[in-house]
Amino acid sequence: MSIRRLPENLVNQIAAGEVVERPASVVKEAVENSLDAGARSIRVTLEQGGKRLIRIEDDGKGIERDELALALASHATSKIVDLDDLEAVATLGFRGEALASIASVARLDLSSRTESVPHAWSVEARHGVISEPAPAAGAVGTRLDVRDLFYNVPARRKFLRADRTEFNHIDDLLRRLALGNGHVGFELQHDGRVVRALPPANDEHGMNRRLAAVCGDDFLAHAMPIEAAAGGMTLSGWVAEPRYNRAQADRQFFFVNGRMIRDRVVAHAVRQAFRDVLYHGRHPGFVLFFALPPDLVDVNVHPQKHEVRFRNQREAHNFIYSSLHRALADTGVGAGAPRPG
Ligand code: ADP
Ligand code: MG
Repeated sequence: MSIRRLPENLVNQIAAGEVVERPASVVKEAVENSLDAGARSIRVTLEQGGKRLIRIEDDGKGIERDELALALASHATSKIVDLDDLEAVATLGFRGEALASIASVARLDLSSRTESVPHAWSVEARHGVISEPAPAAGAVGTRLDVRDLFYNVPARRKFLRADRTEFNHIDDLLRRLALGNGHVGFELQHDGRVVRALPPANDEHGMNRRLAAVCGDDFLAHAMPIEAAAGGMTLSGWVAEPRYNRAQADRQFFFVNGRMIRDRVVAHAVRQAFRDVLYHGRHPGFVLFFALPPDLVDVNVHPQKHEVRFRNQREAHNFIYSSLHRALADTGVGAGAPRPG
């Protein structure tokens, strides 16, 4: 057995295995890039549940002509330069791997325009080869087209589900992203139809509308705003009054520094806080934004960045628990009080 270096495209395909599971993973990476680029308006266009086409268009700051190919290279990022940056990441992306991974398992076109130039430039990636930039039409911002995901990886393609199922994953994801980024407008099109249009929420009324659009009118009707701060940490958002409770944990959104995450420490703190006000087996509803200095949370622990690690778990736990506990106590619903199911 002799050891050899793998060709770059194969390396990227292997990396893609960790990041790109299905069309929704492509949408997540692309929309996070748009958000990192300061976009105020993001449109997602799909064909066949994203299996045939995923198009993301944004009005962010764009990519320079001479950096388009670099954007598609692996381990190339504009977001961190050294270990200090990695230890205090303030952007959603930082690995510089997403576009390279996607380009290795799909046909990718990237077109972008910055403010300083009169038109867009575009490149194509096919089988790991990136074309020279060509002039293209387009406003300031970026457009990414991803076609025929996994066309060259039949083993992965086989695991894609029905169009409807893949679409639902994307719709769920987009609703979560929309909740976490109220100031950004989102539009989702599927097979030629606009299926979701969420105008930017610039004030309380707008944010309430978005809350209702994502969580339902019923959630909004029972939502209590929460605002707490201590030791450099803040917790804001809404918890639903305890009499709004659900058989499923499907109205629970927790963001850490703008990132939607799953975390055991957080889940435990929330469960504890609601323990005395909810019947066993019923689930609370909440949309919570937890913010703390970026150097107090490690985001580099999961390839798809679904998890984080708090540098001081106990402090985070206690703050989340006590903030929620206080907010719930204010509702006047104590342990043992009668609650309609
Ligand atoms: P990362 O987000 O981890 O840096 P990506 O592979 O997702 O890695 O993107 C590589 C680079 O391409 C980014 O660092 C950014 O500079 C640029 N880029 C990607 N998408 C966009 C976009 N929508 N707008 C502006 N720049 C982008
Ligand atoms: Mg990225």
